[in-house]
Amino acid sequence: MTETFSFTLNATDGAARTGVIHTPRGDIRTPAFMPVGTAATVKAMMPESVAATGADILLGNTYHLMLRPTAERIANLGGLHRFMNWNKPILTDSGGFQVMSLSDLRKMSEEGVTFASHVDGSRHFLSPERSMEIQRLLGSDIVMAFDECPALPATDEAVARSMRMSMRWAQRSRDAFGDRPGHALFGIMQGGTNRELREESAEALRQIGFDGYAVGGLAVGEGQELMFSTLDYAPGFLPEDKPRYLMGVGKPDDIVGAVERGIDMMDCVLPSRSGRTGQAWTRRGQVNIKNARHMDDPRPLDEHCSCPACRNYSRAYLHHVFKAQEILSAMLLTWHNLHYYQELMQGLRDAIAAGRLNEFVAQFHALRAEGDIEPL
Ligand SMILES: [Zn+2]
Repeated sequence: MTETFSFTLNATDGAARTGVIHTPRGDIRTPAFMPVGTAATVKAMMPESVAATGADILLGNTYHLMLRPTAERIANLGGLHRFMNWNKPILTDSGGFQVMSLSDLRKMSEEGVTFASHVDGSRHFLSPERSMEIQRLLGSDIVMAFDECPALPATDEAVARSMRMSMRWAQRSRDAFGDRPGHALFGIMQGGTNRELREESAEALRQIGFDGYAVGGLAVGEGQELMFSTLDYAPGFLPEDKPRYLMGVGKPDDIVGAVERGIDMMDCVLPSRSGRTGQAWTRRGQVNIKNARHMDDPRPLDEHCSCPACRNYSRAYLHHVFKAQEILSAMLLTWHNLHYYQELMQGLRDAIAAGRLNEFVAQFHALRAEGDIEPL
């Protein structure tokens, strides 16, 4: 076990990379997918089960935790890892993005943002300094700089103005974070889908210096084509020897495309959220377990999947527990989805290490194009 935070790049294949992020709480194999534990829980999953799916790290949301149960309370109870019984690394976001998307009555200034809680209407203030303090109280292993993420589409002028404020906030985040051995601070590149602004943002972040770099401001409604065309150049502006994190992505084909373009880390609520709405992700695409075609089907969701939902239960049973609104429905489908995502990441890591990513990606798309197995 290492006492410091570091990144080892083991192999590349085209722009794609595989390596290991070392932290005092354990290694993170990259490319990595981080399940989202919004309110100190990955919904419908025991932390032990999340680990069993193969996740090396999960994400916690500053916005949710600062409002309830509060960062100070979690600190008094020994920090987020002990509080939620997750001993592996945790990355926390800065709260900025969710203030924009969830809270009411926001008032933004150079200093920070004042907002009303979506839980009880109480007033709160977030700034780079306060965000660093909250993430320190939580005990986060990877801390994200506080930034603003403008919704797309936006004018270049609006994106530029927002990006430059985020870069000033990045410097304030760096100053407030201080020197914390074993903990990492990631800067967040902004600039929308504008190449010059992305380059300017990356240069500003490199000047400040971070332990890792996120590509922010994507997966906010621009669509996959624009996201990929931005990822064709944006990761290349960032230092090669540091991890690159694409925030809030995504569907399995988004993940594969991002990894092909040099992304090392991703997070998304999709596998867990889909699991609660009867949607399963498999090697052959999306399966809607609500569909009546599964009612009498004794076959597993995916005969090649080794998760408990596929090993021990039929499509007919998964359909039934969903229809009956049983809690087990969310548990089983979420487990399967997270297992599928982690298996996809393992496949990508192995393929990059073996120098056969193109082959892997071709097979990934071919299987999905076939679609779900024929109904009985
Ligand atoms: Zn499964």
